[in-house]
Amino acid sequence: PVGLVWLRRDLRAQDHAALSHALRSCHQVHCAFVFDTDILAGLPRQDRRVEFIRGCLVELDKTLRSLAGQPAAGLVTVHGTATREIPRLASALGAQAVFFNRDYEPAAIARDAQVRAALVDAGIACHDSKDQVVFDRQELLTQAGRPYSVFTPYKNAWLAKVDADDLRGHPVEQHAGALAARPAAWARAVPTLAELGFEPTDLASLAVPVGAQGAARQLQAFDRRIDRYQATRDYPALDGTSGLSVQLRFGTLSVRALARLAHARAATGDAGAATWLSELIWRDFFVQVLANFPHVVAADGTGRSFRPAYDAIAWERGRPAQALFAAWCEGRTGYPLVDAAMQQLNQTGWMHNRLRMVTASFLSKDLGVDWRWGERYFARQLLDYDLAANNGGWQWASSSGCDAQPWFRIFHPVTQSRRFDPDGAFIRRWLPALRQLPAAALHQPWTATPADLETAGVVLGRDYPRPVVDHDAARARTLQRYAVVKQAG
Ligand code: FAD
Repeated sequence: PVGLVWLRRDLRAQDHAALSHALRSCHQVHCAFVFDTDILAGLPRQDRRVEFIRGCLVELDKTLRSLAGQPAAGLVTVHGTATREIPRLASALGAQAVFFNRDYEPAAIARDAQVRAALVDAGIACHDSKDQVVFDRQELLTQAGRPYSVFTPYKNAWLAKVDADDLRGHPVEQHAGALAARPAAWARAVPTLAELGFEPTDLASLAVPVGAQGAARQLQAFDRRIDRYQATRDYPALDGTSGLSVQLRFGTLSVRALARLAHARAATGDAGAATWLSELIWRDFFVQVLANFPHVVAADGTGRSFRPAYDAIAWERGRPAQALFAAWCEGRTGYPLVDAAMQQLNQTGWMHNRLRMVTASFLSKDLGVDWRWGERYFARQLLDYDLAANNGGWQWASSSGCDAQPWFRIFHPVTQSRRFDPDGAFIRRWLPALRQLPAAALHQPWTATPADLETAGVVLGRDYPRPVVDHDAARARTLQRYAVVKQAG
């Protein structure tokens, strides 16, 4: 039989569940990617993610040819709506079956159901595989048979269940001879950005490898420092975390390979690897939250509280809220750690996890701005944007989510700054205006002595803003704002 593999967020030709399945069951296999106009239409014309995906596909196309051992093989790329193009392509190629890896986002589930129905109508089989996560939505359930909504028991169940089979790779190489030549009508090069209607971005200037080969090198480099992960991961000035989120987002690496590495290292007593494995488990956790509790997002993709009582919170509104939100987005709140973090996000499309927590807490609990506004802003800016992790992270910080930070726990932006950027190296990197301030004043420049400000050449209100809110007053307002939640029990 002839098979078609539909690639989506799994842009690699190694350890790939759907591709492996197709190669084992079909004698001719085609691989395709659809630049889906339904998704692309909502993006700005300069979008690093579109450029990233395109770069990955150019590499993947080459990899498929070399795996197949024939230059006529390669990736079929289509520009259109997936719901129309995949059934059309499958028929045109004479495929008896279409293979893809499962997605858990509500919009993707709806799309896939539509594609499946059209394929079945055309007499074409449709196989979906688990690939994005180690454990799927129904694989880990509580004793009562319900999905987990608390992380620690989920993690314990995950660790108790995982075995070599769960982490085993899905090999591609030994059956790669089944990769078929593309029919002439489909033998086009991956479209250029301009052909897709997009413009180049600064992606090439960022330290983000594009494609599976670069991702593998990035993993090797992290492997050499994984033992230091636990000790360094909370300090944004250090290269403590893996930086692999974008690779996991687009599937240039297999999560099984990463979990296998971390699990094996953790078994030897490596605390860094054990902690890093926990982060991969958080990733699985939020995917299953989204899959099992899809009410955390509304039909238009914006967040809805996991705990409905939190949707009764009265956030700041109107022009004052807009102004506070703009200050947050642009990194001019007057709180250096928050502002440096937003600079990192705006300039690189990535933000350190500690700072995602700090900035999300600051928006909802210091500025009183609806967390959904921040969720949407992150969704636009992050190269690693992932609906499940982003929604989970925002609901954690604003306390509306499952197993979230309790509502009365409010990060102090200055204490966080002193603790996690003690000598101010991170702040100095991203806020050049404050570079010369002594460490004591750097975390709260409004307390700097006139002499310190003068020596550093900083005029508050001119070179760097005064704080847009007073934290203690904001904290008191937030406790009142969240009182509706307490009343709701
Ligand atoms: P590492 O520390 O090296 O962790 C390894 C991997 O584990 C990450 O690449 C990621 O895939 C996963 N991971 C780590 N922490 C989490 C977590 N809390 N939840 C889910 N997965 C996790 N992560 C995203 O991938 N996309 C997002 O859009 C996203 N939005 C977030 C928004 C907020 C408000 C918060 C608090 C967190 C968000 N995270 C998101 C989670 C986390 O901040 C990033 O995964 C992490 O900073 C990526 O850097 P890294 O690859 O160096 O992480």
